[in-house]
Amino acid sequence: MKKFLNILMSAVLLTTMLAACGNPEQAGSNAQSVAGDLSASVDTDGDAKVFNINVHSGNNKKFTLNRNFSANKESISLILVVGQSNFMVGQGHNSEMKYYNSGEITEKPEDTIVPEKGKAYTSGYQQSITQLSDANDMYYVSSPKNEGGSRSGVTPPFAKRWNEITGTKVVFIQVAQGATCMHEWTPNFQNYTCTCPHGQQYALYSLAKSLYKESYEALSKDYNIMYTGYIWNQGENDEKYGKNQSNTIHDAEAYYNAYLDMHNGFMRELELDFGGISVVRSAYSGSTAQNSMVLTFPRIAQYKLCSEVPNLYMLSTIGETCDVSMMNQGETIHYAQSTFNKMGVQMADSLANHLGIAKNKAKYSGVKVYGADGALLAAFDAEGKLKEGSDILTRGGAMGKLLIKFDTLGTAYTIDTAVDGKKSELMDGYGNLDWSKIPNTKKELKMVVTLD
Ligand SMILES: [Zn+2]
Repeated sequence: MKKFLNILMSAVLLTTMLAACGNPEQAGSNAQSVAGDLSASVDTDGDAKVFNINVHSGNNKKFTLNRNFSANKESISLILVVGQSNFMVGQGHNSEMKYYNSGEITEKPEDTIVPEKGKAYTSGYQQSITQLSDANDMYYVSSPKNEGGSRSGVTPPFAKRWNEITGTKVVFIQVAQGATCMHEWTPNFQNYTCTCPHGQQYALYSLAKSLYKESYEALSKDYNIMYTGYIWNQGENDEKYGKNQSNTIHDAEAYYNAYLDMHNGFMRELELDFGGISVVRSAYSGSTAQNSMVLTFPRIAQYKLCSEVPNLYMLSTIGETCDVSMMNQGETIHYAQSTFNKMGVQMADSLANHLGIAKNKAKYSGVKVYGADGALLAAFDAEGKLKEGSDILTRGGAMGKLLIKFDTLGTAYTIDTAVDGKKSELMDGYGNLDWSKIPNTKKELKMVVTLD
């Protein structure tokens, strides 16, 4: 029986995600911004419960090559780029330079990190790539110093790092399209109701599939196809239109199911090795890092997917740490090249860890707990010691939301939760913390993090 100081955080909604995902250290700067009124009282019956956050260690998978390999051929990684505008070829440096050249922004944007000559290639927008030549070599088409950096964004820095890690030539098929909803990427997009301007117009799943197959067929004649997968950044459009409850995708569960249809389809039909997510930035209209951390349903679904679905990995969380300074200063909607440069490197490093081929192994360094408004509630170190915030969760309405995240991406650690050591129905599958399952006299839960 313990007594705890009760820090009332009032009506902050708290959600819990069992996320095998991490976040960069920058996100830790919001500790003081817990919403609501802070006052002290004591739990009257002195019978506070313990909210167990159990961290389990595990082993990253060992990548195995499932395709033909010839010692006479060079090897390539073939990667589909899918999602919304932030993953389109013209984002980042290319877009920023237009604002810079017109005088709308005065500070010269950061150069794209560019792969060496002959190491990485990209298709044009929604095209296949059937041969590797100077015309699609990123050394030329992505470098501000050569052809002008017309294909910038996340893929050049990702490619440079991935090439360094794997030694393969890196080849991207660019299918991402601006302002698209999740339903437009599903195999059965006709079955979805949506009030977005596209309605049921775009069959992006089948487009991605045919561009990939065309590229694979041509390139596999001359190269070993070594690592295959897709990378995804999307969700702002669902955040916007999903508020309409008559749309098929209006909550985390619907987004989860639609995404799973896409993922399973890509994996099965294209025989891919991995899917990877760069988590969607939330509250796209906000300008602070905490705005970017707010728990929207596409993000809740993306964390849950990465913690549950085999061969699907959270590769970057940089997006949710963005304040306005990390965005393209010409429009502050899309990421600046300086942000893409960090994102691309983080994605390649995380992927290498998940596939068990990393030279620098990611190390478990603790967990952080965030509220639904993006505020950091508590940070625990690798030993489970509280190092920032408060370890007391306070009743705040019938249902609450939390996001529990690993500090480091790319580890094989997993999390589950319990109350007083017992798994309970306190948490639903989407991380909602249901206080109605706890007697009304219990105003608080003490978070205890253990590692096995
Ligand atoms: Zn839509």
